[in-house]
Amino acid sequence: MSSSFNIVAIDGGAATGKSSTSSAIAKALGYLHIDTGAHYRTVTFALQKSGISPQDQDEVKNALETIGLGTSITAQQAFLTINGCRPKDTEIRSPEVNAVVAHFAAIASIRKFLFDYQRSQEKVAKDNGFPGLVMEGRDIGSVIFPEAQHRFYLHADAQTRALRRKKQGQTDAIQQRDAIDASRKEAPLKCPEGAAVIDTSQYSLEEVITIIIDNIQSA
Ligand code: C5P
Repeated sequence: MSSSFNIVAIDGGAATGKSSTSSAIAKALGYLHIDTGAHYRTVTFALQKSGISPQDQDEVKNALETIGLGTSITAQQAFLTINGCRPKDTEIRSPEVNAVVAHFAAIASIRKFLFDYQRSQEKVAKDNGFPGLVMEGRDIGSVIFPEAQHRFYLHADAQTRALRRKKQGQTDAIQQRDAIDASRKEAPLKCPEGAAVIDTSQYSLEEVITIIIDNIQSA
């Protein structure tokens, strides 16, 4: 493995195991873990709180001008803050946010707003002494860090994904979100070129982690 800063991009649809996998990989390698799904959820939560719907594109644009983005790091995880505050996990993973986040994430002004912020997390990780970062999402290997040294694309069968959400006690229209994410014009969900594809329904979490770490270390 090279001694320079390493970027690991992990993409995939909803409930494919991205978060548990990314967090474990970051821990094992001493990297910073960044969940960009949480970024879209945090912005969605803030807009919803202001009574803005995804149909109100002008209002979305105006509201974004009032939002100051920041980062708070806890252990090996970086979280998006909005005007200095970080919403609770229960707030950004509520059924209300699950129902509209993909619609907000399809809006070009929101993606543009988060693009620079997400790219800037490389500097945040370096400034905080991390030798690399693991970023998970839908467009990390294709749009945010197409130059990432390590790119992975996770998928899983419908039954496994539904079971995962059930275990997490969440109400989430996984397939509907995937359909919106994969068909949008801006940065659609897709397997990045050259990414290693892993069907996580075939393996335990530990096995997926081992496959990815082996792949990174042998690169
Ligand atoms: O990863 P998670 O399921 O929490 O993501 C929530 C939503 O955020 C996705 O359904 C998608 O609409 C959006 N998203 C995105 N691009 C990313 C990460 C998430 O559009 N890089």
